[in-house]
This record gives sequence, C-alpha cells and structure tokens, in this order.
Amino acid sequence: MLGQKIESGEIDVQNVSKSYGAGPMAREVVRDCSFTIERGKLNVMIGPSGCGKSTLIRLIAGFQRPNEGRITLDGKPITEPSRDRLVVFQETALFPWMTTYENIVYGPKARGTFNAEARDRAEFLLEKVGLVQFREKYPMQLSGGMQRRAELARAMINNPHVMILDEPFRGLDSMTKELMWEYYASLFEESHRTNFFVTTDIDEAVFLADRMIIMTNIPTRVRAVLDIDLPRPRKLGDIIENDRANDVKMQALAILHEEAMKSFSGGSAAATDFVEAYSRRVDRRKRSDDNGQSD
Ligand code: ADP
Ligand code: MG
Repeated sequence: MLGQKIESGEIDVQNVSKSYGAGPMAREVVRDCSFTIERGKLNVMIGPSGCGKSTLIRLIAGFQRPNEGRITLDGKPITEPSRDRLVVFQETALFPWMTTYENIVYGPKARGTFNAEARDRAEFLLEKVGLVQFREKYPMQLSGGMQRRAELARAMINNPHVMILDEPFRGLDSMTKELMWEYYASLFEESHRTNFFVTTDIDEAVFLADRMIIMTNIPTRVRAVLDIDLPRPRKLGDIIENDRANDVKMQALAILHEEAMKSFSGGSAAATDFVEAYSRRVDRRKRSDDNGQSD
C-alpha cells in the first residue's frame, strides 16, 4: 500500500550498440540490441559473465551513451543519470558510520524531503526487510544478508520509477541468497514497480522473473525472452516443486549452454566456468529425478 503511489516507467532499448576503445583496439560489447523493460514487471536479464550486462545497465542508467541506437524511458530519450532510474550494484555499500535506520532514510534526508510519509515508508521498509530489531545497529554489526536487505530498503525509499539491480546478491552463500530472493520478491510484490534485475544465476532468474531476457555472448544482444507466469507471491518451497518452473529453467539453460559453447570454442575462460556450472546443475536435477523415481 505504501509503495503503490509511484507511477512506474517503461524502458525501451532500440538497436543499441556500444564499443569501448578506438581504432584497432576497439571492442564491441553490445551489438544492435533491442528489448523492452516492461512497466510494472520484474524483468530479469540473464547472460554469461562478461557478455555486456553491466555495460547495458550503465547505458540505461545514463552513465554512458551508446554509439548507436536509442534508449527511452516512457518515450523520452535517456541522456543522463536520474533519480527515476535507481541502480543498486553488487558493490553498493552502506555508510559504515550510520545506523541501519540512518542509512535507509539517507536519500530523503539528503534531499530535504524527509516528511511524515517518508518516515512511515521507512518503518514499512524496515519491517519488510526484517530489520526492525536491527535499526540502531551499524553495518559492521549486521550479517552480509542483512546489509544487502538494508541496501534494498535504502534504494526503495526513494520511489524510483525503475529499480535497476546489477547482481545484487552475488557473493552471498546459497542459503542467504535464497532468503534474499523471498525478501526481494515480496518488496516487488508490494509495489509492482518496474524492476530490471541482472544476474548470472538461473535459479535466481526463474524464482524472481515475470520475464526472463536471455542474452548472447559478447557482443551481446537478446537471444530469447521467456515469460514466467508463475503465481505470486512466490515462496521458495512452491517454486522448487513447480514443474513449470523446472521447464522454464531447462529451456533457459539449453539456450545459455549454446551461447557458452559458442564462446567456449572461441577460447573464453568465463565460458568454461559456465559450461561446468551448467553440467553440475543438470546433474543435480537428474539426481533428484532419479531419487524421485526410486521412491
Ligand atoms: P557483464 O556485466 O555481463 O559481466 P560487462 O558489461 O561488465 O559484462 O563487460 C563486458 C565486456 O566489456 C568485458 O569484456 C569488459 O572487459 C569490457 N568492458 C567493460 N567496461 C569497459 C571499459 N570501460 N573499457 C573497456 N572495456 C570495458
Ligand atoms: Mg556485470
């Protein structure tokens, strides 16, 4: 309820190309890439490491300009960073000298818009991310997962039209990560604002996404878009058991595997890791199928 006042935006990426460097040293990272970040949806982008996902985020955020093509928010060209497109990076950190609460209310305080409504929203978000009892603690006193949750709340309080997240849960252990998915999904479900979430983790993508945008290897563009029409609110137990979720996951993995193999034959080390991770996941799935049959 407290999050629904915000009007959410739609982002259109049209025929965008981006290269770094010039002349013979130029490296094309994004090539003729087009997709839509749909209004009010949780849009997840997945692609191999190093394919150009963060580059796309920098373009969408307005930190960099494309060499070709156009990016618009609700039809208006994006030319510079703005508060209506808020980015949470994996490297984003809380201010260590501020408590959880002070960190969360930092944005509105800094802009001089910390009114009664912002105060209510801060309380609501503290509760949503399970940090009510940790409001007076400093970041050093929080676990890694709590810090990430505080960062989500700190971003959400600003009511951006589009929330952009670049692998925000990378580096967390798998149990903490799964807990984060539920917190983050419930934050999304509370507001249904437009979210653009970038990851390399297939389970994360399937659990969170309304739409999964699957990228090719570098120079990247969209390889496929899958709609994930699983019910909300999403709970981990439901999704793990869900056949439709497993079908989508296998479909996405098959596409990602093809992309990884292409760059594998091109000698990319990151792709080697991906092929290994892919095999492990398929093995795990196969093992659990086998177990199921022997029951
Ligand atoms: P991802 O986020 O998918 O892992 P990135 O967008 O970070 O990929 O990087 C894609 C490619 O672009 C990488 O090969 C990286 O080395 C290169 N790259 C990223 N930023 C720059 C830059 N500022 N200058 C030159 N090359 C860059
Ligand atoms: Mg990246």
